[in-house]
Amino acid sequence: MTVRVRFAPSPTGMFHVGGARSALQNWIFAKQQGGVFVLRIEDTDAARNRPEWTEGILSALDWIGIARGSYEGPYFQSSYAGEHRAAAQRLHEGGRAYYCDCTREDVQARTGPQQRGYDGFCRDRGLEPGEGRALRFRTPDEGETVVVDLVRGEPTFENKLIEDFVIARGDGSPVFLLANVVDDMSMGITHVIRAEEHLPNTPKQQLLWDALGVKPPVWAHVPVVVNEKRQKLSKRRDKVALEAYRDEGYLADAMRNYLMLLGWAPSGDREIVPWPVIEEEFRLDEVNPSPAFFDEKKLRAFNGDYIRALPVADFVEACRPWLTGTETIAPPPWQPDEFDPAAFAAVAPLAQTRIAVLSEIVPNVDFLFLADPLIDEAAWAKAMKEGAADLLDAAIVAFEALESWDAESLKATLEAVGAERGLKLGKAQAPVRVAVTGRTVGLPLFESLEVLGRDRTLTRLRAARVRLV
Ligand code: GLU
Repeated sequence: MTVRVRFAPSPTGMFHVGGARSALQNWIFAKQQGGVFVLRIEDTDAARNRPEWTEGILSALDWIGIARGSYEGPYFQSSYAGEHRAAAQRLHEGGRAYYCDCTREDVQARTGPQQRGYDGFCRDRGLEPGEGRALRFRTPDEGETVVVDLVRGEPTFENKLIEDFVIARGDGSPVFLLANVVDDMSMGITHVIRAEEHLPNTPKQQLLWDALGVKPPVWAHVPVVVNEKRQKLSKRRDKVALEAYRDEGYLADAMRNYLMLLGWAPSGDREIVPWPVIEEEFRLDEVNPSPAFFDEKKLRAFNGDYIRALPVADFVEACRPWLTGTETIAPPPWQPDEFDPAAFAAVAPLAQTRIAVLSEIVPNVDFLFLADPLIDEAAWAKAMKEGAADLLDAAIVAFEALESWDAESLKATLEAVGAERGLKLGKAQAPVRVAVTGRTVGLPLFESLEVLGRDRTLTRLRAARVRLV
């Protein structure tokens, strides 16, 4: 039997990192089993779907290595509405489902407000289909439903605690529970790997598989992803969109490595592991069922490690979207013709060891390409204290006289200028750095000045000096 798994996102918002984690687990599992990965877009919630969310999912999957064209689909759930209705009808005809015209108020009037769920009032009324009549599944009164789950063992549900749940609404449209099962069935899905939040649906869905006469899939409910307060990651509260991480400059390799650590660990005492090793070592049945903490700080540190491990040429290439801007990444503050690739290449290795996400490249190098540096006023106030004017005057004179404009000579010169004023190098650097780059922190100063060149450095020092008058 060929293993067939599916990833079945609903296109109702940005692509959630938890979804990306499940997609990768499905992807690897299929690969390990020599199976097939199917992408199904569950687009039946017409009010909340938007085509751009679907496109976002496809491109985000592509970004983390689930490339368009290398999987089956995408299929769109909305194209199978006929099959969903036919299954509902079959269940009705076979006596496994019945029509019900109770309103919520009717049910509550009978059961009292405390009791949750449907009381089975219409079970044996033999109602015909009709406007406003929902179709309910007749759950067995006895026995239990045992779910075979690779992550959770065998969660067992007593059938008598499962209400007769709705499978098609009063307007005849099948609900998610049924559509999802019918599609999995017709797509030949053998393993359903999805987030834990769907576990409560699973006994109901398994009953539907049984009632439709098909052997249910093996399930794997992977852990919910939580924030530092142990709350489920939510798009209103947390940064959850994979696209947001991409546009901030997380590397796809770092991201997918990190996502795979949510609930699972590679062998040995290591976390940064090449993708082929993860593909080989990952075991679905080793996934820990407890909630997985999405630690953004750790991800950031991870990404910094990945950035530092890049060959410099790859780093330069990886920075490009932030140096030019794209459809989703804001353009840098300089004009395209102000950018100097040689100057960038000269400072790139210095930046590579200092940034944790690629978007941080821009504030580190903008002083090289802008005619005037962007002055951070707080930095200015901090650096341009008493003695700054005098120090700048002396630095200007000394730099003008420098024979060789290189980092080492610049450093020795400023060191001497500082020493004459009883200042350590760190203190002497501050006004020069702010005058030239606009900031108090950044790339190593003297290398920066070397690349910026004598004329532009002196122009900026003089401009700062004028401002201090
Ligand atoms: N469309 C569902 C979701 O996005 C997926 C359900 C499933 O994987 O079975 O939550």
